[in-house]
Parts: sequence; structure tokens; C-alpha cells
Amino acid sequence: MKEDKKLLMAIYALLGLGVIFYIMLAFVVEYYVAKESIKLLIIIGATIILLFMSFVTLKLEVTIGYYKCNNCNHEYKGTCKQTFLAMHIGMTRYLKCPKCLTWSWSKKNFKK
Ligand SMILES: [Zn+2]
Repeated sequence: MKEDKKLLMAIYALLGLGVIFYIMLAFVVEYYVAKESIKLLIIIGATIILLFMSFVTLKLEVTIGYYKCNNCNHEYKGTCKQTFLAMHIGMTRYLKCPKCLTWSWSKKNFKK
């Protein structure tokens, strides 16, 4: 579905903004906050938020769409672990098909 793809793109854009914000925050805190304990608190807080955002993005990435094996055309969803660890270029991932156990570059598909 087109909406699914848009949703996923929006989530990635949001995560990208989150990362940029995180880096900027680190600089601002380093230069403008004098107290070490407050510095640490802000950085830990921001890290937790960023990790949470990454986790939500990963969950959605796994939930939305499916992969199609290049070898046997079997349609499958990757697991969280697979999706997280797999080499990828954009939305194409190097995954092992659960049916024929062949490794191949599989493109993410969205339901028609
Ligand atoms: Zn296969």
C-alpha cells in the first residue's frame, strides 16, 4: 500500500531529525551547560529518547511490508534481529529466505 510506504518514509525522516537534534543538543550542552551532573542528565535523557525512537522505527520496519525471495519467490517478513543486523541499501536487505535458506538481496514490498 502506498500509505504504508509513506508512513515508513515519514518515520525514517523523523528518526533522521532526531539524530540531528541529538548531535546539536550534545554540542549545546557541552558549551552552555556548566554543571557536569546536569550535562550527564540531559545526555542520558536524550539517549534514552533516541534509543526509543530507533526501537519504534525498527518495529515498524519489521511490521510494514514484506520481502520476496529472489530464488523461490517466497514472501516473508524479516525478524527484528534479521532486520537490525542485515546489510542494506535503502530498503533492500541481504536476508536469508526461511523457505529455501538462500541468502539474497531482497527488496521490501508493500501490499498492493
Ligand atoms: Zn527462497
